[in-house]
Amino acid sequence: MERIAVFPGSFDPFTIGHKAILDSALPLFDKVYIAIGCNSSKKSFFTLEKRIADISAMYKGNEKIAIETYDTLTIDFCKKVHANFILRGLRNVADFEYEQTIAQTNKQLSGIETVFIATPPELSNVSSSIVRELLSYGADASRYLP
Ligand code: ADP
Repeated sequence: MERIAVFPGSFDPFTIGHKAILDSALPLFDKVYIAIGCNSSKKSFFTLEKRIADISAMYKGNEKIAIETYDTLTIDFCKKVHANFILRGLRNVADFEYEQTIAQTNKQLSGIETVFIATPPELSNVSSSIVRELLSYGADASRYLP
């Protein structure tokens, strides 16, 4: 059985935290879909096109990685691409509490297992929202971007 994972997120923008999780998880899977969730009611900071272009440039030539967008339940996107795992990163207890019920529900509804990777300690403060906050005040956020 091929081990196919979906790494879902907003990736608005894709940070060094996302990259650390993905790079750590890559040896575990045959294929990983970076799945950019695009909920039309949620306004994003970066356009979908910009996010796709930046992530594609980073992983160009890596045949294990595919970049897709979706606007359905994550488990429905997983079924569409025949993924049997969801990949998520954990930074702290707040992430765990939020993720646990979602992972349990996804498993109950679909049988799809969520695999968690703990963030490297030096990246536990990194989030897309911090980056957006810095950028919105004109500050330099490049140290948090891969
Ligand atoms: P969402 O809006 O679905 O939370 P994000 O793009 O913010 O999407 O995050 C996608 C995934 O990446 C989540 O599992 C999140 O916990 C994880 N993540 C984000 N930043 C980090 C980080 N610094 N270290 C580890 N995981 C992270």
